[in-house]
Amino acid sequence: MTSVIEVDTLTPQPAAAHPSENTRVNLLGLSPQQLRDWFAELGEKPFRATQVLKWVHQRRVDDFDAMTDLAKSLRDKLKVLACIRAPSVRLDQTSSDGTRKFLLELDGGGSVEMVYIPEDDRATLCISSQVGCSLACTFCSTGRQGFNRNLSTAEIVGQLWLAERLIDRAVNHNRAISNVVFMGMGEPLLNFEAVVDSATLMLDDNAYGLSRRRVTISTSGIVPAIDRLRERLPVALAISLHAPDDPLRDVLVPINQKYPMAELMAACDRYAEVVPHGAIIYEYVMLDGVNDEPAHAEALVKLLGPRKDAVKINLIPFNPFPDSGYQRSSRNRIERFRVQLKAAGINTVPRKTRGDDIDAACGQLVGQFEDKARRSQKLAQMGLAQIKVITEDRS
Ligand code: SAH
Ligand code: SF4
Repeated sequence: MTSVIEVDTLTPQPAAAHPSENTRVNLLGLSPQQLRDWFAELGEKPFRATQVLKWVHQRRVDDFDAMTDLAKSLRDKLKVLACIRAPSVRLDQTSSDGTRKFLLELDGGGSVEMVYIPEDDRATLCISSQVGCSLACTFCSTGRQGFNRNLSTAEIVGQLWLAERLIDRAVNHNRAISNVVFMGMGEPLLNFEAVVDSATLMLDDNAYGLSRRRVTISTSGIVPAIDRLRERLPVALAISLHAPDDPLRDVLVPINQKYPMAELMAACDRYAEVVPHGAIIYEYVMLDGVNDEPAHAEALVKLLGPRKDAVKINLIPFNPFPDSGYQRSSRNRIERFRVQLKAAGINTVPRKTRGDDIDAACGQLVGQFEDKARRSQKLAQMGLAQIKVITEDRS
């Protein structure tokens, strides 16, 4: 059954229009230190900044009048100078397995995706870091869309802020988010500063308080940025490997031509020295007849074998999209691949696909939604899922 739910029952509303809207500071985008510095400029004490940090990220209010332990004069000042403004929800679909996918609209246009995945022992939020992506991996729908722009810190943290608000209010899947993965649209390490600032807020005890192991940055292998991340904020890392050797990876993940596998693996080894055991995982999308033959598994064993005690590899069934030119490997082929790795002592985590009925793989909803011709067809197909269509225009 398809249900269309009114926007104002579930979605935080954008802040009211204000003459100085564009010049107000969006508090979602300030790191704890930046917020303290800004408060110092206003002549306010640092503990006031901590109070506000908690109101914004722990209680997730967007109304300064709700910050009842602040003096009225400070609240009035903040109302004029600041705002708390996350992306808005354009589409919100819940899959039959509980996976919930959001299409978010950004100020100034542009859309990104966010996916909430509840499981027995955790709930993971998959967030985006860029509108589109410049790296053009051939099996990736986001890569097909090209690059549009980087997300700001406020837009990245705003996804977690927004999801916590929406999920809190959900009737069916009332769980807090325990893990965040940068596996939505975009290459996070090509938006380095905003991603690191966002992750810093996610880890801060006065904000979201997640541990380093529960925030995962997924990268196609930007080698110098992996080293910078190791120095700045060594959170969990997912490496999108997808091929066991340079000739194939050059085709599937073209950035490999710039940072070939030997350099990538050396950077991973350096990273492994500073993170707990198991904090690096390798991702391998299973493409029928392309990278799923026994010879590929054998080459992968050669590559990862020396690291096998520290290595976990995720075999991801390819999520098809129109005109991709690829097909998902069959269950049998994935199993054969897994068994071969296992025999060599390499741990695999064959992941079941989630949210199949809502295209819950990166970049796919945006492509479909923005193709106006297919939109009504798509909405009709989604009778499988609960749907909330948000039609407001926030411009
Ligand atoms: N740019 C980063 C993070 C976003 S992509 C990266 O590439 O790691 C997140 C993961 O989804 C990556 O492992 C990516 O290779 C994978 N992915 C992309 N398109 C996919 C598809 N059609 N099916 C399955 N996985 C896909
Ligand atoms: Fe970009 Fe990652 Fe998609 Fe490659 S897989 S095009 S790096 S989003």
